[in-house]
Amino acid sequence: MRAVVFDAYGQVPEVRSVPEPGCPDGAVVVAVRATGVCRSDWHAWRGHDPVALPHVPGHELAGEVLRVGAGVTTVAVGDRVTAPFVCGCGICEFCTSGDAQVCPDQYQPGFTGPGSFAEQVMVPAADTNVVRLPERLGFVEAAALGCRFATAFRAVQAHGRVSEGQWLAVLGCGGVGLSAVMVGRALGARVVAVDVSPAALEQAGRLGAEVLVDARDLPAAVSRVRSATGGGAHVSIDALGSPALATASVRSLRRRGRHVQVGLLLGEDAATALPMDLVVAHELEVIGSHGMAAADYPAMLDLVDRGVLDPRPLVSRVIGLDEAGAALAAMDRPGPPGLTVVEI
Ligand SMILES: [Zn+2]
Ligand SMILES: [Zn+2]
Repeated sequence: MRAVVFDAYGQVPEVRSVPEPGCPDGAVVVAVRATGVCRSDWHAWRGHDPVALPHVPGHELAGEVLRVGAGVTTVAVGDRVTAPFVCGCGICEFCTSGDAQVCPDQYQPGFTGPGSFAEQVMVPAADTNVVRLPERLGFVEAAALGCRFATAFRAVQAHGRVSEGQWLAVLGCGGVGLSAVMVGRALGARVVAVDVSPAALEQAGRLGAEVLVDARDLPAAVSRVRSATGGGAHVSIDALGSPALATASVRSLRRRGRHVQVGLLLGEDAATALPMDLVVAHELEVIGSHGMAAADYPAMLDLVDRGVLDPRPLVSRVIGLDEAGAALAAMDRPGPPGLTVVEI
């Protein structure tokens, strides 16, 4: 089968022929129809998040079940499906309580194993990790729901717990951030979007953010968020993953507010310091968010199916497998706002 492969960190990935994936007991092999190009893929390609080389990236997948391993009961050949980027083992205490996103024995297509920048991808423990798609949802849109939208959904709804009329600050308006803007609006929150890119802010505005803040001067941006929200946001999200934005997010909160760290802080950013004086004095919550388990997808897919959430405006570019490597490498520089999805 054809797949996008890189042999060394930072080397532009190329399309080549690789063996088809096997289908262990409990697993399925999915014929990939669409897969998103995500900053997490870029982190793996740059070596910030080490992977075994040579490597096939890709984790925001949608497609049709092609082969089914022994023991799988919930999906069949031909089903239209997606899977979270964190696949749980299916048997530990976290998986059995619906929290596969923190499974200690997790498998991540495109990170701990071959990913979905390929014609086929294996998803283990299918009964735990595979989600059937609503009929009306196309593969490109379903791929767009993959890690970034699902992650934003869980960050804003489950962790942020925003309610109608509350202020949500979204720092960093890439794929996760723009998704968070959309989810916040769908839940009735008022949204402040913060980014260095005028184009990203413009798109955040189109998706419903009512206050747009230039992040090039971060202390000024924090002041602007605090004044626009009458004393600070109820919930603030670092959707990019940078020590400066994480700090700015905490500083943007009103008393008893909640900071949700969604963007990855890897390598030398792993020990990011936050203003803990404010965390204590203002009783702030600092919450990490790591994707979303398959068990929580139906609630999100229901909102999508009912038209309350629409991932389509997030997709700004659809490309072919041959262009995927270059699209990944292009993430070295800020690109156009919105999501790039590979159609296969
Ligand atoms: Zn598990
Ligand atoms: Zn992703």
